[in-house]
Amino acid sequence: MTSHSMPHAPVHRRPLDRRVLGYHEFSQSDSRDVYQLAPERFAEQLAAVRTAAMQTNHELEITFDDAHRSQVELAAPLLEQAGMTGIFFVPAGWVGVRPQTASWSDIHALVRSGHSIGSHGQTHSLLTHCPPAALEAELVRSRKTLEDQLGCVVQSISVPGGRWNAAVASACLAAGYSQLYTSQPGPAPAQDLAEPQGLLTIVGRLIVRRRMALNTLASYAAGNWLATAHLRTEYQAKQALKRLVGDVGYQALWRRLLRSPVQSAEEPTVLL
Ligand SMILES: [Zn+2]
Repeated sequence: MTSHSMPHAPVHRRPLDRRVLGYHEFSQSDSRDVYQLAPERFAEQLAAVRTAAMQTNHELEITFDDAHRSQVELAAPLLEQAGMTGIFFVPAGWVGVRPQTASWSDIHALVRSGHSIGSHGQTHSLLTHCPPAALEAELVRSRKTLEDQLGCVVQSISVPGGRWNAAVASACLAAGYSQLYTSQPGPAPAQDLAEPQGLLTIVGRLIVRRRMALNTLASYAAGNWLATAHLRTEYQAKQALKRLVGDVGYQALWRRLLRSPVQSAEEPTVLL
């Protein structure tokens, strides 16, 4: 089920002037990974979205999922050079376990530089697939681990794979979160929202892909209605395909297309 069909998520809506981008990995070398970006491109994008957001009086947030080491090594310095801070969503159980994941000392350094830390679950499991006990463990354990390790309050979560529903939202509230970041571009649509209790905010994000055009990102950061609607439609089409073929089928389909020499490394939107 999608968030749209969920009747009673106890959430409320942030002002429309918040524009949020989500990033994953950075690499100096050429990559076919659609979510991996060269640092020069990132710097270029930061300048463009920052200008666009400022000119139109939009609040801009730069976020990072998965705590890949390249975020600390390549992206954070560029953010800091631009006088900006970001929110880094960390899968707590990956730190100190996966070599490509930032270390606790890396993440400490981010906090000291003024960046914020949020949870990205404990094991990066899709929360909509978790039975209640596992869901609670993903949410509570990750928050507690991050808070204990870093000595800061963690109130935000980016849901792995962008998956959430009313049960996930309620569990996030119960686990002490006040902000749930999704992968759906733009502010949360009105039908996702129920009683405005001011407890849990659903934050829409544009997840940046390698080949996204600079003017697309700038239009999004400027709150352009048409650009946002287009990006949202594209996202919803992708979700519809995932529901049709299932998560595993979708991954397999994408991998097969990426292996094909006639396909570009961009996600095959032509199919969606
Ligand atoms: Zn992730």
